Amino acid sequence: MLRQAFASLRTAQASPPSLASASHHLRIRPRISHLAPQVASRWTSTRSLLPSTRSLPNYSLYKALPYRRNFATSFPRQARNTYNRFNPSSARPSVFYTLISRSRPHHFVFIGLGISGVYLYNTEVIEMTGRRRFNCVSHEAELKMGMQSYREILAQSQGRILPDNHPVAQMVNRVLQRLIPQAPIEGADWRVHVIVDDSNANAFVLPGGKVFVYTGILPICQDEDGLAAVLGHEIAHVVARHPAERMSNSFLTLGTVFLISLLFDVSGQLSSMLVNLMWSLPNSRTQEAEADNIGLMMMAKACFNPEAAVRLWHRMQQQEKSAPPQFMSTHPSSYNREESIRGWLDKAETVYADSGCSTFGSYMPSFKKAYETQSSYGW
Ligand SMILES: [Zn+2]
Repeated sequence: MLRQAFASLRTAQASPPSLASASHHLRIRPRISHLAPQVASRWTSTRSLLPSTRSLPNYSLYKALPYRRNFATSFPRQARNTYNRFNPSSARPSVFYTLISRSRPHHFVFIGLGISGVYLYNTEVIEMTGRRRFNCVSHEAELKMGMQSYREILAQSQGRILPDNHPVAQMVNRVLQRLIPQAPIEGADWRVHVIVDDSNANAFVLPGGKVFVYTGILPICQDEDGLAAVLGHEIAHVVARHPAERMSNSFLTLGTVFLISLLFDVSGQLSSMLVNLMWSLPNSRTQEAEADNIGLMMMAKACFNPEAAVRLWHRMQQQEKSAPPQFMSTHPSSYNREESIRGWLDKAETVYADSGCSTFGSYMPSFKKAYETQSSYGW
């Protein structure tokens, strides 16, 4: 009896039946039921007869297969162990799959309508340019995140911040004070810090009105007009609420990470890292062009020479070829900036004239002069 069984086993192993044909499988299955349990164990542990768990899309489909009952109830321990190695829990249907499989077409219509409703409800128009965009981050939330980043940057820059009475800090502050009346930001508390770091050509404004200027960018700015072009552009990003727009556009990613940080990150480090990451992401081409436009009008209204903006961006692009300034990593020149700004110059000069400004270049002391005569820091 056993010899016959082994003989039939060898035959089966030499040419294993294909699972591709269910009828073939069903045909040979009754044959093994006559074998002794040990032999059946060896026979059934032949992998070619068992379905690969990788090929099973989900557990429910697995349950529907005809040989499941034999496998789970009749097979000896050895065979069951073979199955356990594949971690049966991984074959259970996911929540996502369950939701999708139970959904009906009208559910998707409702979801689509809901998303469209949320999108439309959070769509707004930027007053200065008339552009329509999606923004679901509140002004208060934006201010709060700006304040959080402000504290962190201050802590990181300790010992490198120029005192307020330093001539360079005073010049930078003077430029800022002239621009502020043109920047309608509700709840802003303006303050500028000049950080001594000649290797860092960067400047940025946080939501809430906190301005950071690194000394590395001053040689590129050259004078107050050049700095006004940089700060005007930076303030324009905040006036147009571009940080909030960037957050809204990556809302799904942010939402997921925020959720994870709420659940697992007790110290709040993750959300803090996330906020910092948001400031370091590059602006889109649309946002850059918009900030150029708004910034140019702001500097013209504040009686800075708008032509200085064309020269500044030219210097910035020249610099980019040799040693890319940090500033350019978040403000990509993915379009012809200089040409666009030249196209807006006529309007900017009209704004300048309408603002009752005197002639161009009435008072434009250079930063280099102030730095060399009054400071021990060199460039
Ligand atoms: Zn920019």
